[in-house]
Amino acid sequence: MGKMIYLDNAATTKTAPEVVQAMLPYFSELYGNPSSVYDFAGRSKDAVSTAREQIAQVLGANKDEIYFTAGGTESDNWALKAAFEAYKAKGNHIITTKIEHHAILHTCDYLEKQRGAKITYLDVDENGIVRLDDLEKAITPETILISVMFANNEIGSIQPIKEIGMIAKEHGILFHTDAVQAFCQVPIDVNECNIDMLSSSAHKINGPKGIGFLYIRKGVKNRSFIHGGAQERKRRAGTENVPGIVGYGAAAKRAHDTMKERTDKEKELRDYMIQRITTEIPYVRLNGDPVKRLPNNVNVSLQFIEGESLLLMLDNYGICASSGSACTSGSLDPSHVLLAIGLPHEIAHGSLRLTLSEETTREDIDFTVDRLKEIVENLRNMSPLYEDFMKKMK
Ligand SMILES: *Cc1c(COP(=O)(O)O)cnc(C)c1O
Repeated sequence: MGKMIYLDNAATTKTAPEVVQAMLPYFSELYGNPSSVYDFAGRSKDAVSTAREQIAQVLGANKDEIYFTAGGTESDNWALKAAFEAYKAKGNHIITTKIEHHAILHTCDYLEKQRGAKITYLDVDENGIVRLDDLEKAITPETILISVMFANNEIGSIQPIKEIGMIAKEHGILFHTDAVQAFCQVPIDVNECNIDMLSSSAHKINGPKGIGFLYIRKGVKNRSFIHGGAQERKRRAGTENVPGIVGYGAAAKRAHDTMKERTDKEKELRDYMIQRITTEIPYVRLNGDPVKRLPNNVNVSLQFIEGESLLLMLDNYGICASSGSACTSGSLDPSHVLLAIGLPHEIAHGSLRLTLSEETTREDIDFTVDRLKEIVENLRNMSPLYEDFMKKMK
């Protein structure tokens, strides 16, 4: 096997070497507990404060609206469970979509089955975009929260967040967005979009794993998610993950500073890859919106192909890709996102997600598409379904 070509950046990213450098002093040199009173611990406290500021700047938020968590999943859990508790007196209805990450879907399922919530799962159109009139129609006097992801992790579709925020505000309903895939990939202003809560995770933006944050707008009622000490303004107890937080701040600053240039380059390569795959391989369709799309996302369905076999064969060439989301791979259920955009089971099964990074080159794309063409041809030649189909075509 030659060099590895990593095209699974929606699953996780490489921690940037400069991010690791920024973190290193906070392990064995500046290891003080930010809650302690002496000067040495103050260095840790200051580092956490700097990171909070770096992150707040990306969103146009205030630094004391940023609460550190152990990742995107925790932030999503917190936003939904705490809002449900805090706004119980007003109602029990939550509106979300069918294409959310499992961190949202399974939390909603819990709230519905065990806590008495009523959940509406909005459909999306064939490009994976929520229809605003569906949202308007779903709102009732009992609605306390709208949670719609900023951008989808499988098909890359970017939602009309500003319009959704406006609708939520007009109706006096809280608006949460899972922005794990969008943070530092598309510009976000929490005030312009009327976002009340926002989830993000460091390991999707070249930061370390196991650290995230929840933005909670000042004035939004919320509940402590983890009970204990007074950290994170008493809302999320536990000694801060200082190296993780420092790494997150450094990763956010880095990704924000380079966003335009980096995503312009990614978009160009993404479109080149989509162009090659859809013109050079027959019986392929692009999933997700062609324009309102994450800069680094390619997702295609290849008819008469079994996604898992495709992944194994790509892996033989050192190409890392994904067929659905990492959480559902391993099971044979087709992705809920692909089903929600209307794909039949057999087409959804033959899907491939390739997500680029700032390090992806044109040579990587060419190599991958060339191998993909060969593999697809070979797999189809072994497929009885394809054979039948070709006979009928004649
Ligand atoms: C990765 C991801 C999450 C989960 O974040 P973790 O930090 O891995 O827990 C949640 N939502 C979306 C959209 C994601 O892509």
